[in-house]
Amino acid sequence: GHHVSNQRIRFQRRNRPCRYDIDRFTPSFLSIFESLVPSEEEIARQKQLLTSLSRIINKEWPNSKLYLYGSCANSFGFSNSDIDLCLSIDDKGMSKVDIILKLADILQAGNLQNIQPLTRARVPIVKLTDPETGLSCDICVNNLLAVVNTKLLRDYAQIDRRLQQLAFIVKHWAKSRRVNETYQGTLSSYAYVIMCIHLLQLRRILPCLQEMEATYFVTVDENNCAYFDQVDKLSNYGAHSRDTVSRLLWAFFHYWAYEHDYTRDVISIRTGRIISKERKDWTRRVGNDRHLICIEDPFELSHDLGRVVDKFTIKILREEFERAANILQFDPNPSATLFEPY
Ligand code: ATP
Ligand code: MG
Repeated sequence: GHHVSNQRIRFQRRNRPCRYDIDRFTPSFLSIFESLVPSEEEIARQKQLLTSLSRIINKEWPNSKLYLYGSCANSFGFSNSDIDLCLSIDDKGMSKVDIILKLADILQAGNLQNIQPLTRARVPIVKLTDPETGLSCDICVNNLLAVVNTKLLRDYAQIDRRLQQLAFIVKHWAKSRRVNETYQGTLSSYAYVIMCIHLLQLRRILPCLQEMEATYFVTVDENNCAYFDQVDKLSNYGAHSRDTVSRLLWAFFHYWAYEHDYTRDVISIRTGRIISKERKDWTRRVGNDRHLICIEDPFELSHDLGRVVDKFTIKILREEFERAANILQFDPNPSATLFEPY
């Protein structure tokens, strides 16, 4: 009984039209977005940190290269978010842990502060603070897939401004509602951005760069990463669509609350479509990968970004999607209620 009636409710809401006055809320969503964007000054300070650390490290390892990745480089970072750096180095028989320890020594000699090598972490890193800029950062070693997926996200953000607006608000919602904590079984910021890209692909506001003729190619750990990266040529791609950020936000939560088929579907920005779990062989639990919400990584195709979600947290997530969808549909003041702390 209960199960059936629940399904009927879901089915009816599938075709629910968006509230007629949704665009009234666009200015307040846009001002939330503006308040979260880092300033030019902050971005300049991050670049300065990259330059000075590169100089110190290159003295010792001339063939290494330091990259910014993650939110400080993918255009989806909030002001004052952490800085992720990746050192690319030909390891010549040195283990990652050896490199991390040597790197900590090099940084010590370069007068950086609070240097902490964390060699037992799943991804070994060195933490440090730069007294000159006052910034703290983490440096990992040879995690080039993260550098490449950072570029992909940044390239998508160049095509249509609405991606950045939507993803900032979704991330802000996820942080406020505490569903952006991978160690607690909810989704990473990276996964939320991919979900936003996917929605805009379905609405033809964004193209599928990996299905276009490749202009950028790299191979990282046997993964072929190739896509069209001349995104300045695509700046009119989404111009046909008048969708505002509030309408897209409504569509995002409506999709994840009422339209997504959690038993069958995988979202894939690599193909710009929904593909089946069957095709990926993600229909059953293997080890710790439960596949209760399936989000394909664009380059590491065996990697489900939803694998951290378990049978308890999937319920929490879906209830939060429904809460958000209902607020956007009915609440008189959605741009406040949506972000009420959990
Ligand atoms: P935040 O503002 O929350 O710090 P972030 O963009 O730094 O957001 P994280 O989820 O902390 O996002 O991830 C940092 C970077 O690490 C991502 O941009 C991505 O390049 C990489 N990354 C994170 N999670 C994964 C994952 N599951 N698979 C592959 N790469 C990932
Ligand atoms: Mg981060």
